[in-house]
Amino acid sequence: MSNPEPSVMQKIVSLSKRRGFIFQSSEIYGGMNGCWDYGPLGVELKRNVKEAWWADMVSRHDDIGVLPGANSSFEMTGLDCSIIMHPQVWRCSGHHDLFHDMMVDCKESKKRYRHDQLRGRWAEYRDKKVFVTAMADPEEEDEAFTARAQKFFGLRAKDRDQIKWDGSACSLETIDELELVLGPDAKDAGTLTEPREFNLMFKTQMGALHNEDSMAYLRPETAQGIFVNFKNVVDSSRVKIPFGIAQVGKSFRNEITPRNFTFRVREFEQMEVEFFCHPDTSQEWYSYWRDRRMNWYLNHGLSSENLILREHHSDELSHYSTGTADIEYAFPFLPEGEYGELEGIAHRGDFDLRSHMEGKLDPNSKPLEVQLGENGKPLWKGSGKDLSYRDPVSNEKFIPHVIEPSAGADRAALAFLCEAYTEDNAPDDKGEMQSRVVLKFHPRLAPMKAAVLPLVKKDGMPEKAQEIYRELKRKFPVFYDVKGAVGRRYRRMDEAGTPFCVTVDGETLSDETVTLRERDSMVQTRLNVDEAIQAIQEAIDC
Ligand code: ATP
Repeated sequence: MSNPEPSVMQKIVSLSKRRGFIFQSSEIYGGMNGCWDYGPLGVELKRNVKEAWWADMVSRHDDIGVLPGANSSFEMTGLDCSIIMHPQVWRCSGHHDLFHDMMVDCKESKKRYRHDQLRGRWAEYRDKKVFVTAMADPEEEDEAFTARAQKFFGLRAKDRDQIKWDGSACSLETIDELELVLGPDAKDAGTLTEPREFNLMFKTQMGALHNEDSMAYLRPETAQGIFVNFKNVVDSSRVKIPFGIAQVGKSFRNEITPRNFTFRVREFEQMEVEFFCHPDTSQEWYSYWRDRRMNWYLNHGLSSENLILREHHSDELSHYSTGTADIEYAFPFLPEGEYGELEGIAHRGDFDLRSHMEGKLDPNSKPLEVQLGENGKPLWKGSGKDLSYRDPVSNEKFIPHVIEPSAGADRAALAFLCEAYTEDNAPDDKGEMQSRVVLKFHPRLAPMKAAVLPLVKKDGMPEKAQEIYRELKRKFPVFYDVKGAVGRRYRRMDEAGTPFCVTVDGETLSDETVTLRERDSMVQTRLNVDEAIQAIQEAIDC
């Protein structure tokens, strides 16, 4: 039997490994679930995503006059906080007590699964009924369910058709009869436990002593470092409200079922802004950030057919939020019509600053009565510091409201990679059309901006090409490739997402002109070297 055609996602994963975008972490030891390494091209792609974000949100930010009728220019500044913070930060932020997923354990296989991610289907054979679950990609679900049910009922492959299926696949969350559920790795039904809470923060110990007082956490988000430094930033710089503080950095979540390549991982990078504003204008700022962030992805190449802005319904909102929207992308590993979160934009009111002042808040934003921990120290006690803001012009004192656009650098890089992946046709060296794989990255995000290729490996062309290569290398990342027929070299560059090829031939030696070949259109233009550099630079900057 011939192997089935790999799915688009399988092709992207295999290209990522083959061309050095993304490798499984610790692969030579069998890999590490939920951890990935970025290879030579991947590191450039992800760095470009982060740098474009930082430049647009912070260093090159020049967005003024966004709120009608107001003097609404604003400043953006940055921070780089430590990953391990005072444990009280996580008690007051709510992560210590609330940052959990519901999970079920399998008593037979000893494996643990996220309750909302386990999906299954009712199957019946003779008088026996079972809810079959499987950890499978959605597109392979049916096959996985059938194979498991066949084994469970002890049927031969030719008798599979005798299994009766009831309803379509659904989440385990909708099923009450756990005794009839066949866990994904179990032989018998009824081995899954009732769902239980599982905190997602990674714990560690600080210092030589291992006791409750030395317990620390790896941050599950970068945002809290910004809140606890709010006063430091106001006091040490000249920023006035409204203003934003940005941070890019690693976050850690002990996800129960990391999956879908780099979409859900245990160690990842976030790109977060906390935007501080007056409560009276906070709704307008919320709309502003929601739309601005959506446009950022569109401007960098995600197509509007694959991207949605989803406003949360009122029953989905946290108790302190008056508005939250997710920017979601139609990742190819999801079933048709489903989207995965790239970024959340939340109106957080004064919840975070107030919590770090007063201690953990209840759903009515009142500080919870302080309780003592085992060591006699108060749990969730606030810092007691005044984190309010005094307006230098009106003298009004208030706790700023916060709008939080919170994005994941890994998910963004993955979305750009998925969107870029294209199969089309290109002429080979004999002019015959051949299929090609091309990564159509926006030039600003492309790992390498150009490749310099001597047409042949003689007649002074490599030397001239080297000269041009060194000149380009001072301006942006660039490849030099001399090996093989030029058509094949073009295709290698297409597959790496390199937007331009600069080809050096006999004419270059006499008149300083080169051929500039554009990756997507494959159009070749004769230009002098300076014009070619300028064209590449303009494409990167746009
Ligand atoms: P999800 O519902 O997918 O778990 P979330 O709503 O918990 O995500 P946030 O807490 O809002 O995510 O984090 C902000 C961003 O950080 C997300 O939009 C996502 O891009 C990124 N992110 C969060 N968790 C992960 C993860 N486990 N792996 C990769 N990126 C993540």
